[in-house]
Amino acid sequence: MSLPQFKLLRPRRIEEAVGYLDQHSGNVRVLAGGTDLIPSMRQKLFEPEYVLDLGSISAMRGIKPNADGAVEIGALTTLRAVERSDFLRQHYSVLTEAAATVASPVLRNMGTMGGNICLDTRCLWYNQSLTWRKGCGFCIKKDGDLCHVAPGGTKCWAAFSGDTPPALLCLHAEIEIASAGGTRRIPLRDFYTGFGDTYRQLQPNELVTRVFLPAASADYRGVYRKLRVRGSIDYPLAGIAVVMKRSNGHVADARIGITAVNPAPLLVEGATALLTGKRMDDSLAEAAGDLAAKTAKPLTTSALTPEYRREMIRVFTKRAILAAASN
Ligand SMILES: Cc1cc2nc3c(=O)[nH]c(=O)nc-3n(C[C@H](O)[C@H](O)[C@H](O)COP(=O)(O)OP(=O)(O)OC[C@H]3O[C@@H](n4cnc5c(N)ncnc54)[C@H](O)[C@@H]3O)c2cc1C
Ligand code: SF4
Repeated sequence: MSLPQFKLLRPRRIEEAVGYLDQHSGNVRVLAGGTDLIPSMRQKLFEPEYVLDLGSISAMRGIKPNADGAVEIGALTTLRAVERSDFLRQHYSVLTEAAATVASPVLRNMGTMGGNICLDTRCLWYNQSLTWRKGCGFCIKKDGDLCHVAPGGTKCWAAFSGDTPPALLCLHAEIEIASAGGTRRIPLRDFYTGFGDTYRQLQPNELVTRVFLPAASADYRGVYRKLRVRGSIDYPLAGIAVVMKRSNGHVADARIGITAVNPAPLLVEGATALLTGKRMDDSLAEAAGDLAAKTAKPLTTSALTPEYRREMIRVFTKRAILAAASN
């Protein structure tokens, strides 16, 4: 599958990049590591006139701990750098665990934090070549007006399938978004819409530039578990992140994030209240698993059945909770 023709823009500074986005608004795609964008362009899911290559913007790279223990991660920082960061492993281990499961080492060398956060949602009926989609019929997410997964509905249910966002949600991460008009900072949980087609709150002239992890989220025990078809290189078909702090044998605080089973990564509502102040045992971990499984709404967007994916959310949550609570 060949790439469509495009003009390449290579800014060196963030101001220059957002200037280009403003100038060509709606007709330009941002390229970070390209590990998702390039295959999608080959499948003719995107055929922009311009591609904005962020690769030369050094100000968007790096992991910078602040004096107060918080940390700032440039959106262009590779997943490999995140996975290998001693600081992050020591203080925000759920993020390094999640990053280490993305795709394969080669793709993690190229793939970036910003790209993982902005990753397009996925569906069996969408992530296909143009010939395949033409043959089977287009859908709401691209060029059509019906959904093959939920016929009769008007919503796209394509699944958000990034590994690091559930971990970032557990850490109460915030992101910085830049445009020619200035920058804004929002909690990551407000970035996702819950719709498979218009899945993120990002204007065509905006760029994700930084990720912030607050000091208050440091030093939690973190666990990430994922279900995938090929263990060596694959998107999650269900993913679960857990962070936990304990005190005197009881849970002092805990959060659960899930991915790949809804059009957005989500924090499991009620998990903190369920777990906090309790002594961990099998039945408490099972109750947390039930709650996470209720939050998961997988549909037939992938190779595995929705029932199996929801069940694995239950099973992985229980295991992850018990692992986070173990000595
Ligand atoms: C075989 C294979 C397996 C994979 N397995 C996994 C997996 O297990 N888990 C997983 O999470 N991902 C997986 N991926 C997807 C991808 O490799 C990762 O999600 C990676 O982190 C994407 O980052 P990138 O920098 O390459 O993004 P790109 O491909 O450059 O961009 C992805 C999207 O984000 C947008 N974008 C990128 N950066 C920014 C920014 N700073 N601001 C605004 N928009 C931006 C792009 O325009 C594009 O729409 C897989 C990909 C392949 C090909
Ligand atoms: S969920 Fe429906 S509309 Fe969305 S990509 Fe799949 S088939 Fe298309």
